[in-house]
Amino acid sequence: MTHAFASPAALQCRICGQQYPVEPLTICEECFGPLEPAYDLQSLDGDRFREHVESGPTSLWRYEELLPGGPGIDRVDLGAGFTPLRRADNLAERLGLGTLWIKDDSVNPSNSFKDRVVTVAMTMARAFGFEAISCASTGNLANATAAHAAKAGMPCYVFVPDDLERAKILATEAYGAKVVAVKGNYDDVNRLCAEVADTLPWAFVNVNMRPYYAEGSKTLGFEVAEQLGWRLPDHVVVPIASGALLTKVHRAFGELIAVGAVEEKPYRVSGAQPEGCRPVAQAFKDGAEEVRPVRPDTIARSLAIGNPADGMFAMHVARQTRGQIEWCTEREIIEGIELLASTEGVFTETAGGVTVAVLRRLVQQGVIEPGEETVAFITGNGYKTVEALEPYVEPTFHVAPDLDEFLAALG
Ligand SMILES: *Cc1c(COP(=O)(O)O)cnc(C)c1O
Ligand SMILES: [Zn+2]
Repeated sequence: MTHAFASPAALQCRICGQQYPVEPLTICEECFGPLEPAYDLQSLDGDRFREHVESGPTSLWRYEELLPGGPGIDRVDLGAGFTPLRRADNLAERLGLGTLWIKDDSVNPSNSFKDRVVTVAMTMARAFGFEAISCASTGNLANATAAHAAKAGMPCYVFVPDDLERAKILATEAYGAKVVAVKGNYDDVNRLCAEVADTLPWAFVNVNMRPYYAEGSKTLGFEVAEQLGWRLPDHVVVPIASGALLTKVHRAFGELIAVGAVEEKPYRVSGAQPEGCRPVAQAFKDGAEEVRPVRPDTIARSLAIGNPADGMFAMHVARQTRGQIEWCTEREIIEGIELLASTEGVFTETAGGVTVAVLRRLVQQGVIEPGEETVAFITGNGYKTVEALEPYVEPTFHVAPDLDEFLAALG
């Protein structure tokens, strides 16, 4: 079938492989499996692909040949992506690792990795002719969706749990979106949104646009490979909410190998969850086949999905690549935030605290060996979740504006 997009070639069922046209579809009619874009990888050449990337914009759209829409499509674009890959020698030394990198997605346009998925989903939604944009959010997606909707001049409705962090709600309102605060947790919000999506002609970036949305996460994997000089690391540590990001980093590496843009080599994918919402980590530990839903209770609100859509796929990726899915305690989240900020000058939100704390555990357990070149994905900005730190942090000195008093306090 022909369509208006340069890529992907089709949508394909992740369970049975049945193909569908590139339309706003999410579920396979044969087996109810989730659909995802499939590309004509044979038509791409590694050298030519790399050249195309390197001559592209300094945003994730430099990877347009392996993204929905492809070259030539009119984009909803705030410049998401192509964020720094920071060499983290201080943290590496503290942990006892040889080479550690921080992929710093806290510096995206709305300060989290969610800008990546939204620019892709909203570009496709507009191309499909949707006139209003919506999402079910744990917070960061609300900011990203609202920001991109403002840029596109599209009406935007954002559904969130009503007890989210203040900064995430306030920024969403500042971007001009209508915030629907739902009395319930994210899984309740998500269920409501599935019903609204069946009723109103709105594009929900992570519901009826989900196959396109999730593709944006691949660009984190593409960037790491390019920024390492077109090669793959030995081990990556990825935070898990729905599990989409983790599965897509793996897919990105696989696509780069398939087109010949990097050399094939073994790499390991590990996942990170907080103790208060660890359905995937628990299933991994138990050796289970299924991920049992939980009721989240964690300060890592952006990871608080109790019934993760891609949880089972994430578990398979970790098993297949000899990675591990691990959790950290709620207190370790704070330690992780402070450890990264105080060693590398990168202030991350609670999700980043989870990633750093789990990285530390994996090194302590010997799962990550000292010689493994490791990349930790820092997906959000600490200024959005300052309330998490409040019980633990206060000024070192509290003095009158008086030199003698200060010197006395200093000791
Ligand atoms: C959404 C989110 C994630 C994880 O995303 P999934 O693809 O749903 O697993 C990680 N970190 C932050 C900060 C997020 O907002
Ligand atoms: Zn199917």
